[in-house]
Amino acid sequence: MRIYDIIKKKRDGGELSRAEIDYFIKGYTASEIEDYQASALLMAIFFKDLNNAETIALTEAMMHSGDVVDLSNIAGLKVDKHSTGGVGDTTTMVLAPLVAACGVPIAKMSGRGLGHTGGTVDKLTAIPGFQVELTAEQFAENVNRCGIAVIGQSKNIAPADKKLYALRDVTATVENIALIASSIMSKKLAAGSNGIVLDVKTGSGAFIKEEAESIRLAKAMVDIGNGMGRQTVAAITDMSQPLGFAIGNSIEVIEAIETLKGNGPKDLTELCLTLGAHMVVIGGKAERYQRAYQMLEEAIDSGRALAKFRAFVEAQGGDGAVVEDYSRLPKAPVEYAVRAPRSGYIGAFQSEEIGRCAMLLGAGRASIKDDIDLSAGIQLASKIGDKVASGDVLATFYSSRNDKIDEVESLFLDAISIVDQPCEEPQLIKAIVTADEIVDYK
Ligand code: URA
Ligand code: CA
Repeated sequence: MRIYDIIKKKRDGGELSRAEIDYFIKGYTASEIEDYQASALLMAIFFKDLNNAETIALTEAMMHSGDVVDLSNIAGLKVDKHSTGGVGDTTTMVLAPLVAACGVPIAKMSGRGLGHTGGTVDKLTAIPGFQVELTAEQFAENVNRCGIAVIGQSKNIAPADKKLYALRDVTATVENIALIASSIMSKKLAAGSNGIVLDVKTGSGAFIKEEAESIRLAKAMVDIGNGMGRQTVAAITDMSQPLGFAIGNSIEVIEAIETLKGNGPKDLTELCLTLGAHMVVIGGKAERYQRAYQMLEEAIDSGRALAKFRAFVEAQGGDGAVVEDYSRLPKAPVEYAVRAPRSGYIGAFQSEEIGRCAMLLGAGRASIKDDIDLSAGIQLASKIGDKVASGDVLATFYSSRNDKIDEVESLFLDAISIVDQPCEEPQLIKAIVTADEIVDYK
């Protein structure tokens, strides 16, 4: 087999066989195929696309390029959740204990934040003592005993994807649905769960901003997951504004705890109940979605979800008393109120910019090597549709430094539009994509 012939075949619109795709992925991972040839093939794929069978073969080849986690020593049907990345997305910290409280084992690997997007692993480290690195034995033991463990992603998950994604980034070949879907799913499938619920964000803070395109991506990922024997469902959800009110690390831990106590923001609560209900059904703990949704509401009302969060935190070495005493979390020395420059209604957020503002205050990292300030972030006071008067507080900035406040304030105000006419709050759940259908909620 020669890589030249594989490039030529795809350039001319042919269908690649599984053997050809395996040859490419093995050769590229081992650096036997050069970047310039891989680049040419990626560009050919960008223009001629991959069909379902090719996309599944590519996903499997990338998944098997590194470690594939074996969760067979953990009892029960394990269900994972993945978000395509948003701003202030506090979901995992709420969802994982909530679903675990309903009997679905959660054995989750989570990422660190980059750019305008935060990462669950960073947020959890805001809890004093919390360990995001466990051995494989500890990980399995915690899930078996406590029903839940969340750790950082191990280094050797889908190395082929790591290498290819970096190459796509510099060759203008990121924006292809088959390549994105196989990239995301290769990592999720390697993480070993039996079922997967995907949260595909759409809107100004999302990786893909157009709804129709988000649905296409969701369908591609659902087809890959189900095609590989893992029950997979996707929700298309709004990211036209940050999720909840908190964007940061410490302050998102507080938001998560409040949500588990039943006092959470409406959008964050609804998203957790919706994604969670699909997880409970896939995990076999309820037959129907409506029943699963009720079980999750009961877990919040009874305090069982909060108790599960505390047990989970303590099992990973964290200070469980944070659930009743937020002063145990890192607190920023600088607090600054941003005020509305005029009266009107909040019309829109450029959410990616809002995420960047939080990063500039110290809550996130511009490069993966940067340190983060766990106390930093932005607490919004208003969301789309809210009425504000000139001089009202729009948000509070938290930071360890004073020198960036003015610059970030002007970026922040540029990223919020205040309009004269009342406007509606966006619909949170746009569509649900399953193996058999796409249910549009509009
Ligand atoms: N996120 C990924 O992990 N891969 C892509 O290709 C795009 C976004
Ligand atoms: Ca939030």
